[in-house]
Amino acid sequence: NTLSGEKQEFDTPDGKVGLYVCGPTVYDLPHLGHARVEIVFDVVRRWLEYRKFDVKYVQNITDVDDKIIKKAGEEGKSEQEIAERYTKAFFSDCKKLGVKPSALYPKATEHVPEMLALIGKLIESGHAYVIEGAGVYYDISKFPDYGKLSHQSPEQLKAGVRIGVEKQKRSPLDFALWKAAKPDEIQWDSPWGKGRPGWHIECSVMSLKYVERLDIHGGGRDLIFPHHENEIAQSEGAGHVPFARFWMHNGFITVNKEKMSKSLGNFQTIRQVLKQYEPEAVRLFMLSTHYRGPIDFAPEQLDQASNSLEGLRRSRELAEDAISKNKTEGTPIKKQVKEIVKKFEEAMDDDFTTPNALAALYELSTLLNNSLESTSAKELKYALSKYKKLAGVLGFKFKRKKAKAKKIGKKLEAYIKTITSDTSFVGKGEDELIDYVVKLRDEMRKQGKFELSDQIRAKLSEFGIILEDTAEGTKWRRA
Ligand SMILES: [Zn+2]
Ligand SMILES: [Zn+2]
Repeated sequence: NTLSGEKQEFDTPDGKVGLYVCGPTVYDLPHLGHARVEIVFDVVRRWLEYRKFDVKYVQNITDVDDKIIKKAGEEGKSEQEIAERYTKAFFSDCKKLGVKPSALYPKATEHVPEMLALIGKLIESGHAYVIEGAGVYYDISKFPDYGKLSHQSPEQLKAGVRIGVEKQKRSPLDFALWKAAKPDEIQWDSPWGKGRPGWHIECSVMSLKYVERLDIHGGGRDLIFPHHENEIAQSEGAGHVPFARFWMHNGFITVNKEKMSKSLGNFQTIRQVLKQYEPEAVRLFMLSTHYRGPIDFAPEQLDQASNSLEGLRRSRELAEDAISKNKTEGTPIKKQVKEIVKKFEEAMDDDFTTPNALAALYELSTLLNNSLESTSAKELKYALSKYKKLAGVLGFKFKRKKAKAKKIGKKLEAYIKTITSDTSFVGKGEDELIDYVVKLRDEMRKQGKFELSDQIRAKLSEFGIILEDTAEGTKWRRA
């Protein structure tokens, strides 16, 4: 909890969890920094659900902002067009990354009346003041708790703030609730003139509106100050105390130890990265560091994650293949599996320590690999089900690569030619080819040619075809 600065026991009175995470400002393609927020809170949510909490996850879309206005001006498009384009891009990238969608994604522009109401309330209670021609500002001197999330006094915070153009502000820390608009900019009517909301007010309004009790408020650590500090001032200043019970902030992604950000121009978009790496490799890379720690981006680390992913996926494949052999006896492994599951759970219960949870998952992967020949199908099945469940909590599927199952016809044909002189199969469709080779394998088994039949099974597995030897003969399916 950033607010207490400590690890705290987490619970809620009714088993429900209101989780609000600050979403993107949609003016450009999302980069790896966004991917990290999404993946971190996706895992937080999945873990809480694993622990049987009823989670309501809300993430806002900031679709009105100086950067959007600037981009719209540059491209000669409307702010709405820009926002729509990049909202779409954000959703599509999240989907590719395997992020479970939030319950809802409220947009700032759809909540202007509520923001006006909250601003009015803050003026009325003396927490905010109007600067003619500029807008409405929050008076942080009226909120004694200002700085409590950053654990800094207003004096300390002031030292890091540039004096803005709004010289009439009472303090450099005072921030805009409402900004007067220039004639050609997106704008709404308000009691204080035409303008648009400041950035912070939207999150107070939308989190209060959509999450009954804000149990966890999250975001990247760059949001602690000023964004989240200001959200607290706005919400608690208007009587919503406490605004949020727990605050969680994930660390930056750095490049050569510098924060990855658009303003520094050193960012990698999610799309760029996904051209070279699988989504689950990106996820593995992210979760290999504790969410609060910084991640230094390096291609070698993504390469390493890709290799590790390959191994984790292979364990699932091998276990599935071994299970299909229906071995009835062997060394039990259930107890070991349970111990590993416990390690995983302890790691996740301890402030979502995903590196340790992953270590447990690797351990389970190794156990599976070592038990393929020595354990019964039933025990393996149990181990595999736990393996998939824990992987799922971290957002992994470890699915066989689909590409292998697709368009294998030519390769399969070439392979069949190496094991038979019969050519009647040539030119047949993929399914018929598989039927053919499975029948061929059955005949070999009848003739006692088990080595060859095992080789065929292995080869088909490479193509993404799983064989199951049943009493009614061999069945096959695509992985
Ligand atoms: Zn926010
Ligand atoms: Zn927020």
